Amino acid sequence: MAITDKIYVKNHRQIGAQLDADIPKGAFKGATMDLLYRGKNLQKLDDTTRDRILDFAEDFLDCSCDNNPYCGCPERKFIRYLLELRAQGLNAEEIVDVMTSDYMLYAYPGDILSFLDDAVRTLEATGDLASVEHNDEIEQKARQAAKELAR
Ligand SMILES: [Zn+2]
Repeated sequence: MAITDKIYVKNHRQIGAQLDADIPKGAFKGATMDLLYRGKNLQKLDDTTRDRILDFAEDFLDCSCDNNPYCGCPERKFIRYLLELRAQGLNAEEIVDVMTSDYMLYAYPGDILSFLDDAVRTLEATGDLASVEHNDEIEQKARQAAKELAR
């Protein structure tokens, strides 16, 4: 399961009640994106909730693909967001706190941690492969990125 399958909407039941709809817990579920991130539903929400959801839509759902938001861009952008927070030195708990205050989303710190571990391992493997192939530029980039995430 991808990490984006483990990102949840905080208070999804209360939000669902405001919208008279069942909102799935998963932030990147099709039904959640349909209900929350498009259409006129947002007017029914309180200001704070609406602002967070609009921020999320602006930051992650703003691509112009024909099949937006089902094109994979939102998930890719969110993963980049997680990696950037990590590169800034935040630990898993802090990353969860930031996503909650930015977008009213949450995840279990353990899931974030194993996602970050996987990312580091993938980068290290990329670095090893590039080294075998004598691709210095890729190797350096991969090792540098792995170092930023692993601290
Ligand atoms: Zn897209």
